[in-house]
Amino acid sequence: MPSRPRQKPVFRFAPSPNGFLHLGHALSALINQKMAQQADGRLLLRIEDIDQTRCRPDFEAEFYRDLAWIGLAWEEPVRRQSEHLADYAAALRQLEDRGLIYPAFLTRSEVKARVTEAEGDGQAWPRDPDGAPLYPADDRERGEKERRQLLSSGLRHALRLDMAKALTLVGQSLTWQETGDGETGTIAADAASWGDVILSRSDAPSSYHLSVVVDDAAQGVTHVVRGLDLYHATAVHRLLQELLGLSAPLYHHHRLILGSDGRKLSKSEGATGLAALRAAGRSPADIGRLLGL
Ligand code: GLU
Repeated sequence: MPSRPRQKPVFRFAPSPNGFLHLGHALSALINQKMAQQADGRLLLRIEDIDQTRCRPDFEAEFYRDLAWIGLAWEEPVRRQSEHLADYAAALRQLEDRGLIYPAFLTRSEVKARVTEAEGDGQAWPRDPDGAPLYPADDRERGEKERRQLLSSGLRHALRLDMAKALTLVGQSLTWQETGDGETGTIAADAASWGDVILSRSDAPSSYHLSVVVDDAAQGVTHVVRGLDLYHATAVHRLLQELLGLSAPLYHHHRLILGSDGRKLSKSEGATGLAALRAAGRSPADIGRLLGL
């Protein structure tokens, strides 16, 4: 009997075009490429342009030049999130049908005022692993009648996951398999520490968390290789995968390139931008050396 062809491992590099690529992105892209080659796998490129308020086509156009310059080779076609909004809407509906989502009306400044007031009174406000305050319980606890009134008044709102309900439904301790530069092995996923995460905003139809799990599944990604800054977010991704019945990839969170101030590089840090380094006469080999590869 002919044996079935082995499915190749699938890796992806998934930058957001809300600024120029810098050395941190080059490290991630090149580690993905190296791991894909070692595993005889495929490398996909995904453009995470869901947030149309911040993403720009000129950044995306520059991505292709920068990535080709550092020697990245990816499969075509490139998946662009802005072309798959129906997929995220369908996932959102699945969660909604199970009563796991609620409309959240508080603005960022209302939440901030609430936190400042509590902290001014000496009460600690719970924060997520990135240090952002958890969303207050008001909207989750609102009665159906009031919720309907607010919705019909046309008040802008986001959609948030009812974390406690979602965890009860999944009913098991979630884990992921990690091989990166932090803690490795079977990692306990602490999704609760993120509170009621946002799944869509009035100005962005899907959040990063929702679109990343939908896309990884749609593209058959088996290995998620990305920076350690997204290590803890993996807990939310694992929860969404369970809720949506999607299989879990393996995760590898690699070291970050830090700026002179010891912080993670930002897209506005011009001196480490790949386009700026190229314009300054650096070669792709120089980039490899700068990255310690
Ligand atoms: N788009 C994300 C970023 O640029 C990366 C998402 C991921 O690799 O899961 O930070």
